[in-house]
Amino acid sequence: MQVSFIGLGNMGAAIAANLLKARRDLTVWNRSPARARPLIEAGAVLAATPREAAAGRDVVFTMLADDSALDSVLAGDQGLLEGLGRGALHVSMSTIAVATAERLCEQHRSRGQRFLCAPVFGRPEAAAAGELFIIAAGDRADQTLAQPLFQAIGQRVFDVGETPPAASLVKLCGNFMILSAIESMAEAMALAEKGGVSKAQLLQVLTGTLFDAPVFHNYGKALVESRFRPAGFAAPLGLKDMRLAGQSAEALRVPMPLLGVLRDHLLQTIAVEGDDIDWSGIGRTVARNAGL
Ligand code: NAP
Repeated sequence: MQVSFIGLGNMGAAIAANLLKARRDLTVWNRSPARARPLIEAGAVLAATPREAAAGRDVVFTMLADDSALDSVLAGDQGLLEGLGRGALHVSMSTIAVATAERLCEQHRSRGQRFLCAPVFGRPEAAAAGELFIIAAGDRADQTLAQPLFQAIGQRVFDVGETPPAASLVKLCGNFMILSAIESMAEAMALAEKGGVSKAQLLQVLTGTLFDAPVFHNYGKALVESRFRPAGFAAPLGLKDMRLAGQSAEALRVPMPLLGVLRDHLLQTIAVEGDDIDWSGIGRTVARNAGL
């Protein structure tokens, strides 16, 4: 099986490295070619364009910042859509809008190409350790084809059906809940701290009792340490996900008042701290608003 990987950012570089380790054979492309260097040194082949990366390959992964980055990789003369052969499979791992996933299904189908939506849970450290959770949706046959590749990069695959946009929706729901957890922890920590209880003490009690889940352990530690840089998941990407969740909420007529609060706090965080802060930096905004 010939495989390519497009998009070598924080997540993509780590995922591609695990694919290369498992297969010893991988073609890669990134807008900024310098980021491909470590992979090339490890034996990957650098393609000159997305079209070249896709041509003659059985499976092409994409892991790009957002919908418009994905569109620019897909479109045009030198784009992935032009290169990917009939019957070949595009596996999109980026967190994208449900509407974009719907459009991609159609774009690929009209060209006789196959398409899986497979966004992931897990930060760059989890990607590097091959411990991502993969949320896959698309034809079962395509999921079966991708299975050995998923095994090289993730700890578990969730099959959420044969309609690719469902995977985007699950991912957006998950990110809404992660940021809700960060916000609620940050508010509780501000309350505890102003009342004379340390953040660390509160977290120890919470994670030792009813909140014993990775999201509370991992983000709780970052909040206790006020460690928001370097960003593993940059706040502007989190803001993008809140926007995409809001688009689905609007389309499906689901009021989500909490989403508005999260979006505003993230925006405030970016306005004050800059684009390079992690999305958990929302905790700094909560603390500042509490006069801490
Ligand atoms: P990142 O480090 O910012 O990397 C973004 C990638 O997209 C880079 O390869 C970048 O290329 C490329 N890109 C951006 N704009 C482009 C354009 N117009 N044309 C072509 N390529 C473009 O982001 P990341 O953290 O890896 O996240 C990637 C995706 O995974 C996002 O959808 C994110 O929501 C999702 N995700 C992230 C995490 C996390 O913890 N980081 C976890 C789960 C899911 P350059 O190198 O040239 O800039």
